[in-house]
Amino acid sequence: MKPAIAKIVVDIALDKEFDYRIPAQLADIVHVGSRVHVPFGARMTQGYVVGLAESSPHPQLKEIAEVVSKRPLLTDKILELTRWMGRYYCCPVELCVKCALPEVVRKSKISWKERQFVRPVKLTPDDLAKLAKRAPKQFHALEILRKTDGMFVVKLCEEARIDGTAVKVLAKKGFVELTDKIEERDPFGGEVFLPTEPLPLMPDQAQSLELCKQAIDATSDVSRLCESAAGAPHERRLAESAYKIPKPILIHGVTGSGKTEIYLQAIEHALRQGKDSIVLVPEISLTPQTVERFRARFPKQQITVLHSHLSDGERHDQWHKIRDGQSHIVIGARSAVFAPLPALGLIIVDEEHETSYKQDEAPRYNARDVAVVRGKLEHAAVVLGSATPAIESYYNAQRGRYVLSTLPHRVDHQKMPLMRIVDMKQEMLRQKGLHVLSGRLRDAIEARLAKNEQVILFLNRRGYATHMFCPKCGYVADCPNCSVKLTYHRKAAQLTCHLCGETRPAPKVCPNPDCRDPAIRYAGMGTEKVESAIHAAFPKARVQRMDSDIMTRKSLYREIFHDFRIGKIDILVGTQMIAKGLHFPNVTLVGIIHADMALHMPDFRAAERTFQLLVQVAGRAGRGDVEGEVIVQSFTPSHSAIQFARQHDYLGFYDQEIEFRQQLHYPPATRLVCLTLRAKTEEKAKFFTDALAREIRKHIGANDLVSEATPAPLAKIQNNYRYQVIARSPQIMRLTEAIAKVVTATKLPPDVLLAVDVDPVSLL
Ligand SMILES: [Zn+2]
Ligand SMILES: [Zn+2]
Repeated sequence: MKPAIAKIVVDIALDKEFDYRIPAQLADIVHVGSRVHVPFGARMTQGYVVGLAESSPHPQLKEIAEVVSKRPLLTDKILELTRWMGRYYCCPVELCVKCALPEVVRKSKISWKERQFVRPVKLTPDDLAKLAKRAPKQFHALEILRKTDGMFVVKLCEEARIDGTAVKVLAKKGFVELTDKIEERDPFGGEVFLPTEPLPLMPDQAQSLELCKQAIDATSDVSRLCESAAGAPHERRLAESAYKIPKPILIHGVTGSGKTEIYLQAIEHALRQGKDSIVLVPEISLTPQTVERFRARFPKQQITVLHSHLSDGERHDQWHKIRDGQSHIVIGARSAVFAPLPALGLIIVDEEHETSYKQDEAPRYNARDVAVVRGKLEHAAVVLGSATPAIESYYNAQRGRYVLSTLPHRVDHQKMPLMRIVDMKQEMLRQKGLHVLSGRLRDAIEARLAKNEQVILFLNRRGYATHMFCPKCGYVADCPNCSVKLTYHRKAAQLTCHLCGETRPAPKVCPNPDCRDPAIRYAGMGTEKVESAIHAAFPKARVQRMDSDIMTRKSLYREIFHDFRIGKIDILVGTQMIAKGLHFPNVTLVGIIHADMALHMPDFRAAERTFQLLVQVAGRAGRGDVEGEVIVQSFTPSHSAIQFARQHDYLGFYDQEIEFRQQLHYPPATRLVCLTLRAKTEEKAKFFTDALAREIRKHIGANDLVSEATPAPLAKIQNNYRYQVIARSPQIMRLTEAIAKVVTATKLPPDVLLAVDVDPVSLL
């Protein structure tokens, strides 16, 4: 019997599944994942079928009006994944469904682009001779066309320098055939990449690749068994348990150890088995340099790159290409984890420690963790890679949940860069005041410039100075809307809030009406100040700054890296934009201007972030034949994060950090959920956070803890006061279930907003 009832999530934000009757005439085309039109209240709305049932407890059901797309957009596996996300991240399923389907696919506004296509037809020499005589231009066009199987009319017009009317005339004469054909909007256009062959592997790499291959083969076996048991849930479960689904593999490889080559060869192995692959990279490292390596190894039509700069049309076409099984490798940032590849066999998460895999709005999912779950659901191998694995991931490997593969050496036996630490407190005494460059860093830059080698300087803060103050009356320029200081941007002569964007002209005298002293000062530093200090110290050096203030055009990124690579720039100054995955053989010196910046954030991950950043930035040095050097300027040079980074000692850092986390009940020793409430007044924020904390306490288990309501470290953003409650539990699913129950039952006033963050990456 065919199911009579469809469970539908409607496209307007409602956290519910609704039952609709499936009319007989639609019975064959309503599937799980179908997009449908349904009556909702007085109007029609769009929705997705998320489940089918034989019957419904509700007696009076409305009928599905129409099926919008014949083929379901969501596969049932992806639907299952979104349901898991809803439960795990305490979030309405329909928000998770939205995550899995890009807006251009959800809304039916954009479709394939159809254009007129012209094909040659068989002609007699006589016809041709006549045409050549009467209409030489048309004949010329026909000659061009006859060398092909056909082309788009626009292209023919361009090449033969004729207009569309001439093509129509040719068609009327029966010399050519006109049709409509879908033209794929290809974001890469005519770009050509020099093909590459697989590189020979070092022994560690080969071992790592072998693990990946085994996992891919094992998953193929599970899939094959499950297919043969399709439709029979019991047999399917038996098949699944008969073959162990392989565990995710964590590749811990130092910078320059050749992880990408392993990914490339693992993908190739999957392809040979008819399996598709997803490669996740952080948005910030989705650079032409990264993409080029993949594009050069595999045929162009097999690869799809999903990134934030695609136009709506391009995104539509790429998504459908994936869904139709025409693409076999998808490279993309966070949301590419939902790419609907029909024969998924491998998911790679590069730089798995990156916090940008975590979405900062609901659903607050971490693409790495979603990848692990999707791998399990779809029997795909999962490979996580990093030079500095997240403490959680390494912990999972230590506890046997992941398989660990270590690459301790750089390829071709390049040495790890030498890291020197400069104590900036000493330096301040020596230089009688705080300067951007220590003597040591300055000398090192000078030496590199003399040898025509390149330098990268890193400071993870943009602007010129971090705050403005008046030494006479003590005035400090704070943001009126947020609990942070305004940053001074010298070139723009502005004070700007990096949280809410509040911008005002930089004052010439103290803004305090009782003071008006002209001697206002600027303290702290950003990339703009580093740039100007370099200009002052090395007037002849070619310096380029790279941060989000500069990157106003999308092509600029590519242009600057190109200029740097061909040696048109001596010194690159930048924020984390330059910290990721770049490979410049001529960079022999990396300077980290202020290593302690992240260290003093009120966040339990501060040390981990600092360690990761130092190792990653340092990894940019010495990627060529010359040994690299890294100079780290710090006010707390003895801090363990800095010392372990200096020795490239991940394990030493991990051992110490895990002990600290265990003692203070932080992840991964326990699991966290952070609830943040925003309200227009502090009293309101506190009142409702208190109430929420009390209610959650009633529902938790014996080993769970719920903190008091406290102001968030960033107590005010955009005139919203923020309060937090932190809940901890060794069993996360039970805790999120309890929280979901409380949150659903709690009615908050419309101006009080709640964010539930499961496994938060930051507690600010
Ligand atoms: Zn003043
Ligand atoms: Zn602000």
